[in-house]
Amino acid sequence: MLSRRSLIKTFSALPFIACIPRLGNAATIANFSKLKEGYAQRLKKILAAGELPYIDIESSCNSTKLDMVFVAKRMDQLNIGLMALSADIGKGQFKEGVRFDHLSERLLASYPDRFIPVGNGGQAPAFSETPDEFLDAHEAAARAKQIMLLGEFEFRHYPSPRQAKRGEMDRDVNVPIDGPIGQRVFSLSERTGMAFQIHYEIEDALLAPLESMLEQYPKAKVIWCHLAQIRYIERASRYSPAYVDTLISRFQNLFFDTAFGDAGSIYPLSNQRHTRAWANDSSLKPEWRDLIAAYPKRFLSALDLGGDRLYRIAEYDQNHRNFLQRLPAETRHQVAYRSAWSLLFGEEFA
Ligand SMILES: [Zn+2]
Repeated sequence: MLSRRSLIKTFSALPFIACIPRLGNAATIANFSKLKEGYAQRLKKILAAGELPYIDIESSCNSTKLDMVFVAKRMDQLNIGLMALSADIGKGQFKEGVRFDHLSERLLASYPDRFIPVGNGGQAPAFSETPDEFLDAHEAAARAKQIMLLGEFEFRHYPSPRQAKRGEMDRDVNVPIDGPIGQRVFSLSERTGMAFQIHYEIEDALLAPLESMLEQYPKAKVIWCHLAQIRYIERASRYSPAYVDTLISRFQNLFFDTAFGDAGSIYPLSNQRHTRAWANDSSLKPEWRDLIAAYPKRFLSALDLGGDRLYRIAEYDQNHRNFLQRLPAETRHQVAYRSAWSLLFGEEFA
């Protein structure tokens, strides 16, 4: 929890973030609209300079090691519009009892026009060992309008390529999406109207439980991260652009982020090129491009920076822009910032 002193410091630095209990929701909703003004100005400034801004809907970091000045400067240099930079609660913080990291307040206190207040990464140990405490804290933050977005919740997560290379296999996560924790996350989204991100590896056996949850919670706003990222092709015979098309048609509140590797990116544990949207000649496969162009409102920009790779932001930006560049111009603008805008604010970017 924030100390009284740091609360006063944060709130005096940023009066419109402060929640005035006496005024209830009206005051806090007004805070979001003030943030929205700053975001719009920043996006419009980049557009006016002839550049393409995008909203990185999914990046994360270790808040105790973050150099926010570095990230903010790079965002300016690279014309990155906004970033939803979530804090992952590390093992040390977890042992100290942290169940909600207030990184977003710090980011907004310094840079209110570029960071989207977002909850913490749903990762082990906080999400797996103390899910109720973790979700209680997030529900409170959502209700107090301290955050606009939740996630990324790791329901099924293989070790990341970097962890696999380092031999760190403890992130082989399996939290049943249709179990009690999944029920609570989907219900939280329905009750608060807040979107959330899931990390959910693409496997045949995992598709039915996800579909069942989307059916049970039609108002839950779900961002399935890492479109077309399949680590083991032999486990994913059903997933294809046609399958994603059927999901989009069936579920009106299902979205996909486009944080994926470049055409040459290999998942070390299977030795496969896991970003299936790319063809062998490094072009974007037409069936994926056409799907995105057919439903551009369902796809969002994302970098998926993490605590161990924030310094590679320019490389990730280049990779993402290479993808955006392959989309028709109108689709590109929709995916880059318009989709995230309407998901966050319930209205078109104007
Ligand atoms: Zn992920």
